Amino acid sequence: MADHINPFESALAQLHKAVRFVELSNNPINKLSNQQIKNTLQMLEQPEREVHVNIPVTMDDGTLRMFQGYRIQYNNARGPYKGGIRFHPHVDLHEVKALAFWMSMKCAVADLPLGGSKGGVVVDPKELSAGELERLSRGYARSIADVIGPDKDVPAPDVNTNGTIMGWMVDEFITIKRAEVLRLAEVASKNLDPSSVSLAESRPSVSTKGSRSQSEAGRNFSGSPQAYIDSLRATFTGKAIKDGGSEGREEATGLGGLYILLAILAKFKSKALNPKSKISSKFQTQNSKRLGFRISDLGFPRPLTVAVMGFGNVGYNMVKFLVSHGFNVIAVSDSKGGIHVPSGVNPELTLACKKKNGYLAGCYCSGSVCDLSKGRPITQEQLLELPVDILIPAALENVITKENAPKIKANVILEMANGPTTPEADEILAKRGITVIPDVLANSGGVTVSCFEWEQNLKGQHWTKEDVNKKLKRKMEVAAGAVWETAKKHNTTLRTAAFVVAVERIMKK
Ligand code: NAD
Repeated sequence: MADHINPFESALAQLHKAVRFVELSNNPINKLSNQQIKNTLQMLEQPEREVHVNIPVTMDDGTLRMFQGYRIQYNNARGPYKGGIRFHPHVDLHEVKALAFWMSMKCAVADLPLGGSKGGVVVDPKELSAGELERLSRGYARSIADVIGPDKDVPAPDVNTNGTIMGWMVDEFITIKRAEVLRLAEVASKNLDPSSVSLAESRPSVSTKGSRSQSEAGRNFSGSPQAYIDSLRATFTGKAIKDGGSEGREEATGLGGLYILLAILAKFKSKALNPKSKISSKFQTQNSKRLGFRISDLGFPRPLTVAVMGFGNVGYNMVKFLVSHGFNVIAVSDSKGGIHVPSGVNPELTLACKKKNGYLAGCYCSGSVCDLSKGRPITQEQLLELPVDILIPAALENVITKENAPKIKANVILEMANGPTTPEADEILAKRGITVIPDVLANSGGVTVSCFEWEQNLKGQHWTKEDVNKKLKRKMEVAAGAVWETAKKHNTTLRTAAFVVAVERIMKK
């Protein structure tokens, strides 16, 4: 794994590559002058706001410990900032800035009425007790309370954070805001000067058509204070259902990844069925050279083989959906190492085994049993280099580097983690004809259902899981289609195409 790569520099390299195509682009965006394009580029090279916080937490032994945290609000041209919160010992400013930038791109690729942000706390949550974790989560929510809200910035889970943590954070946020709302309601009921009673958190109207949400900034308080307080639940997504979460959010990133993968594989399939389709030879070389023999496999005469790095929220759900759709997942890993199970992992048994042991090692669960004879341990590097059809990094960034890219044997890489491939590795993979389905497209299912959750909270609705998944599938197919068509048009990779789609949409706002 690469140690010294600045993910924000990688993100900017991706941006600059895409902007060359935006400048050359032959579409309505070209009505903008080169100066306007330069201005947007300059704007996208830095976040709009960086919040640095130090969070005091009383530990179980009575001592006080300070934790460093960040909230980076990158771009809100298309709507309120949106992005997860990561708890990890390696969190740093460059990483959070990169993740916030990618969120801006991702929301635009998925055509959501949201901008991009990200948060992080430097901590190894495994070293904290449940009480310490709750106090840290509440402390972080307090420290950023002034800059978040349904129309400002909407956080969500990321690495090492989950629905329970979002529940603590939303509870803390609402506790802070409730006092303010009730005070303003009381003032309003006494008919005092209305200008003194406009709420800090105003409620945005929600559009699902990709237009920027219109804040009713400065509106005077009217209606039920409780209804307003309830709408503040929209400040956090990825919550448990009991706290106002959406059906399907927990597994949305994995399910969205499956929909994107199937949509891209189907594009290759229809191209194979229609040999006269006008796809340039360079694009074919860049995106399907090594996929060629597999095109005939798309009717699944044999299961495509998959290796997945990471077995957390995203990795586990990805494996679950792949297996239920006939893929053969033969290797998975967690932070402690990987397992190779050639007959195909059973996701539920593997998860149960990992929960029992605390790690994946030895969990060779296939069919209906876990048995040591069914697999072998492998390192992260060995997993990345397995001869599989599809490789899925679903853990951390910068794991596919210029050192291991030449040794990767997969034909398709589905980037479920954010930023798993360095720019140098990306070049090598493109030259080798390996199709990379980029993170800003591949893992956009999570933020898409987060957007649905935000919308449900604001409208006071609760959609069925069937409804959520149907809308998710549609969104993912449309996003995959837009990126595919742009790649075809510009004769470039899916990653550059995704950035072109995103930058053009941001410019149009
Ligand atoms: P998680 O904390 O639930 O799981 C992370 C997994 O990665 C764990 O299994 C952990 O053991 C493993 N891991 C950590 N270090 C590793 C290493 N060096 N090698 C191999 N495995 C390692 O986090 P998650 O929510 O599943 O997020 C995973 C990735 O997906 C991150 O890059 C995150 O930004 C991205 N992502 C998450 C979501 C979401 O909805 N959770 C949405 C979009 C993108």
